[in-house]
Amino acid sequence: MIVADRKHVPEIRDMIKNHRRVLLVGCGTCVTVCLAGGERETGILGSALRMSLKLIGNRGTTVDECTIERQCEDAFIDALAPRVAEYDAICSLGCGAGVQALAEHFPNTPVYPGLNTQFMGILQSQGVWAEKCAGCGNCRLGEFAGICPITRCAKRQLNRPWRIA
Ligand code: SF4
Ligand code: SF4
Repeated sequence: MIVADRKHVPEIRDMIKNHRRVLLVGCGTCVTVCLAGGERETGILGSALRMSLKLIGNRGTTVDECTIERQCEDAFIDALAPRVAEYDAICSLGCGAGVQALAEHFPNTPVYPGLNTQFMGILQSQGVWAEKCAGCGNCRLGEFAGICPITRCAKRQLNRPWRIA
């Protein structure tokens, strides 16, 4: 599961504040499970942004929300196209892959990231995700007894104190 945290509201507000109509797009899969960018979080962020924009005296930016099943899959992004045509900018609450997929699909519309993608992990206890994989591209779990040396060694060392023969 990809784990992400939402950026702070003022950071997102400052990215979008010069646009007239902004569509917040949530993602209904990984980031829904980690409570960062699903439908509920997208609605909450939309309200927070509208309030934050008002507080800085911005009356010209409209923020609306929607959520699609997966931002990394063409079929779901294609269905979003008619909606995107009504907006000047998108703020994605998908992981980095989702943000880039939207940016590739809608090259004439600026796409901003609403989340900070952290890692791939598993749920340890309610609301606590353990980092298990950083997607290093050269998986060494076979040499390390199934323990990731990148994410689970504080020094990220590959010269290991022991090794499976
Ligand atoms: S865009 Fe990212 S968060 Fe959304 S489903 Fe795809 S991998 Fe998961
Ligand atoms: S070594 Fe660790 S970071 Fe690299 S692919 Fe394997 S699990 Fe992921």
